[in-house]
Amino acid sequence: MRDIPLKYIKGVGEKRELLLKKLGINNLSDLVHYFPRAYLDFTDPTPINKLIPETTACFRAAVGYTPVKNEIRRGMTIYKTLLIDGEYSVHLNIFNSAYLAESLAEGEEYFFYGKITLNKGMLEITNPIIEKTDTEYIMQPIYPLTAGLSSKILSKIIANALQYYERENDADIIPDDIRRKYSLCHEQFAVKAIHNPLCSYDLEIAKRRLIFEELLTLQLGMKLLKSRNRGRTSFIIENDFSKEFITSLPFELTGAQQRAIDSCINDIKKETPMNRLVQGDVGSGKTVVAAAVIYTAAKNNIQSAFMAPTDILARQHFETLTRLFEPFGISVELLTGSVTAKKKKEIKERLRSGETQVIVGTHAIITDDTEFDRLGLVITDEQHRFGVKQRSALNGKGINPHTLVMSATPIPRTISLILYGDLDLTVIDELPKGRQKISTYAVDTSYRERIYAFIKKHLDMGLRAYIVCPLVEENDGDLTAAKQYAEKLQKKHFKDYKIGLLHGKMKPKEKEKIMSDFAQGEINLLVSTTVIEVGVDVPESVIMVVENAERFGLSQLHQLRGRVGRGTHKSYCILISDTESENTKARLDIMCKTSDGFKIADKDLELRGPGDFFGSRQSGIPTLKIAELTENMDTVRESKEASEAILKADPKLRNEENLRLRKAVAQLFTKDKGSTLN
Ligand code: ADP
Ligand code: MG
Repeated sequence: MRDIPLKYIKGVGEKRELLLKKLGINNLSDLVHYFPRAYLDFTDPTPINKLIPETTACFRAAVGYTPVKNEIRRGMTIYKTLLIDGEYSVHLNIFNSAYLAESLAEGEEYFFYGKITLNKGMLEITNPIIEKTDTEYIMQPIYPLTAGLSSKILSKIIANALQYYERENDADIIPDDIRRKYSLCHEQFAVKAIHNPLCSYDLEIAKRRLIFEELLTLQLGMKLLKSRNRGRTSFIIENDFSKEFITSLPFELTGAQQRAIDSCINDIKKETPMNRLVQGDVGSGKTVVAAAVIYTAAKNNIQSAFMAPTDILARQHFETLTRLFEPFGISVELLTGSVTAKKKKEIKERLRSGETQVIVGTHAIITDDTEFDRLGLVITDEQHRFGVKQRSALNGKGINPHTLVMSATPIPRTISLILYGDLDLTVIDELPKGRQKISTYAVDTSYRERIYAFIKKHLDMGLRAYIVCPLVEENDGDLTAAKQYAEKLQKKHFKDYKIGLLHGKMKPKEKEKIMSDFAQGEINLLVSTTVIEVGVDVPESVIMVVENAERFGLSQLHQLRGRVGRGTHKSYCILISDTESENTKARLDIMCKTSDGFKIADKDLELRGPGDFFGSRQSGIPTLKIAELTENMDTVRESKEASEAILKADPKLRNEENLRLRKAVAQLFTKDKGSTLN
């Protein structure tokens, strides 16, 4: 499809063009690929007695009486009425929309769509979307929006764009044989149906096709990255010295740790650089695995860089490595933002001369003007993937080092192979012996007071606790809720203790200050959104409370739980939820019974489908638009199979029928900040 500028599309003027750009829509193709995040589905309304508070739902009901107007304060009016279906009812509130309120006729039936809330034991809905029951648009798209652009306007613009798009009439991006083999509908049909499905069946086949297309593109990209000529490494490491390092450790390695070390050593002996992901649950001992490899590099006279996402984590690793390497006379230094300019200069000088063998720090160590004597190994810890961009930063310095990525997020193997398909994968699936189990309980909100008392008892012993509140989005409303919660705890329940608040809108420096105050015990109780730094060790923190636990995926809960039990004290995880859903109860129950992250991830996959794993929380991979909606593994498996078949026949995607796929791969990978395909 040609890149038709937005201004040629009916309904788009200068002002709307700017608004669309805010949504990342820059041309016709972006516009037709801007998929709804949900649908107003009036085909299957929920009976009122089945409505669940705090969820978004559609129901059909009659207006009990003509909405009654109340003036709350100047300029603020609210209309109220009761919506009735048989014997059950919901309170309706309409703020500041006389037109809408007055259009509702007593006794008439409508569809109502919106978030259901509970107020003094009564179901309530506020400013819902209201549709007549004889509507011809039985399923309406809901788009992610920006201020100034309503869903109605965006729908219109997209409808106009679709007409243009139809006229373009390109060959399907998925080659015909693949499309037929997997019974995928045509691209044109899918794109039209995803915006304006005529029935839920159309929507299903459109979704499946688009999810397939996206996963196919992702996997082709990953495989191309992997097979791309990596070039030779400048540093082949000839001799394996890991044994003498391992013998020096005060404990025995687990079998899984030993296997991980062996695969890394095996990699760095080759001519092509190592590109490996080591995945292991919190506490599985990834650091010594990295250390064994760094040690071997150092003994071969090769420098290593160890990168962590934050200053605190870098410092922790620095301390560990210094302790491990001191007896061997291997020099380790720390380079972070808080090092003074004068010291920085000295450290860099020693790196350049080769005097320093191991440097620990944040990404800054490779992105700014640092020069190395013989940098041959780069290790990144926790979450940060070493993107292609950073790799080319190194290549600019004339080096093509071995890279090792360490991740503490257990992911089912099938999914890992897709998300990290460009890396070789090692899983550390075994914890060192004698690890304490974190006692985990799922309770409802009636336990809150008891939980506060339980926390206090532990704070009085000099220990620490976390309370995590979920934010649906980090918007201001939710943020206020977290702030107010922290304030209420401080004033009412924890007067004599110091409470801290941590959230995603804070600057990195502010976050680090709070984290280090917490680590030092100046803050006893940390109220946080889910931004608690992964990997920060605070051995005194022994209680993790999660509010609205039903809103989290199991893997995420498992990550949060990993913040406690890092010392010698008995630790607890308390999941609070008032959920009525049997599925959610079953999920929380798994948390109470299992502490194995990989088992939990498998269960998560089984209960919530693979979509969650493609969601935004996976950092470092290209942002996917629609794969998050996938509920079954079949599409995942089939797209994998198809990507293999395509590359087998056309390893570089040079054939005519694959050119559009090639272009899509390039686009997917350049949109992502961290990686570009070249
Ligand atoms: P993570 O995989 O979460 O990064 P760490 O590397 O921080 O885990 O290890 C957690 C703790 O376990 C450290 O104190 C480390 O010294 C210790 N440890 C690592 N491997 C073993 C082992 N095989 N036996 C006993 N303790 C170990
Ligand atoms: Mg770690």
